[in-house]
Amino acid sequence: MSYSQYLLELSPIQSWLKPVAIPLVIGGPCSAESFKQVMDTARALFESGKVSVFRAGIWKPRSRPLGFQGAGEEGLKWLSKVKKTFKMPVAVEVAIPRHVELADKYDIDILWIGARTVVNPFSVEELTKSLKGIERPVFVKNPINPDINLWIGAIERVNKAGIKKIAAIHRGFQGLTRTKYRNEPMWEIPLELKRLFPEMPIITDPSHISGSRALLKDICQKSIDFQMDGLMIESHINPSKALTDIDQQITPAELSRIIDSLIIRKKRKTKSFNTLDVLRNEIDSIDHELLGILAKRMEMAIKIGHYKKENNIDSIQPKHWKKIIEERISFGGSSGLDEEFLRELFDLIHQESIKKQNDIIKKKD
Ligand code: PEP
Ligand code: MN
Repeated sequence: MSYSQYLLELSPIQSWLKPVAIPLVIGGPCSAESFKQVMDTARALFESGKVSVFRAGIWKPRSRPLGFQGAGEEGLKWLSKVKKTFKMPVAVEVAIPRHVELADKYDIDILWIGARTVVNPFSVEELTKSLKGIERPVFVKNPINPDINLWIGAIERVNKAGIKKIAAIHRGFQGLTRTKYRNEPMWEIPLELKRLFPEMPIITDPSHISGSRALLKDICQKSIDFQMDGLMIESHINPSKALTDIDQQITPAELSRIIDSLIIRKKRKTKSFNTLDVLRNEIDSIDHELLGILAKRMEMAIKIGHYKKENNIDSIQPKHWKKIIEERISFGGSSGLDEEFLRELFDLIHQESIKKQNDIIKKKD
């Protein structure tokens, strides 16, 4: 498919976002929780000298209606204060036209569209109608599912509304199973976006990719190695008391330490990593999913092991297994997988499942 029809008219990032340091860092809490929390966090980030833009969620897309839903309009007043006090541009998530209207009223510098909104072209269309005439940069997060066209589609809709200051934010994708990441990075997707739209800045959000503090640094380094254009990192003055995303927020001091530890290599020619590194990253993602699925299958075999024990059923059921292997060979064969390979693979999986089930059955209660 050719994307030439979608060539976007974009302003170079240097003309609208001046980094105070390299790499460009957007930092701030997942949610604005109180005036004090916002001001204390902003002050510490400002004083670190590393953060160019202050972020905070004002309306939170929570899975369930209980609990903290965000500070709402009141929070915008706190952000105005951050802007005035520290002369830092401020950014918030907007999901419906009313959010855009309010963000505009409080002179919020940058708007971002969250992952849950980008999945729905109707929502994006409604939102972009309200963006018309609003001269503010817009960041577009990737959709939750790994669909590059949904991401591109949202960027195009924003651009069609007349917004020329656009950046994409890579926050990871939901895979088939849970891995060590909260959201699989699938680097091949932002890299493909970069290849299609070389002028558009892409900012990595390691906080929502990792979901945990321990993985942040490696993702930041990877982002730099892939020559992404900046980082959006969640930071809270007191992370253990955070009302949302408690496991992934770090203190401003930790953020500063991570940034100091990053190795900024000399620019490589983009071409040199595009082919092999992209393909290798794709294999990494696929292997992570494969291992996640294997672990899930093993969990299921263990459940069946308990059932067999309770009902006095043998762990090995040759007739049933013969049927399974035939079905798998036929199913896998239709995707072009070799019969011998499938037989060996499933024998191995079967042996491991039986071993696990025998351990359960033999174990004295
Ligand atoms: C956020 O940035 O706090 C957020 C809700 O992110 P996402 O839309 O990526 O889940
Ligand atoms: Mn968050």
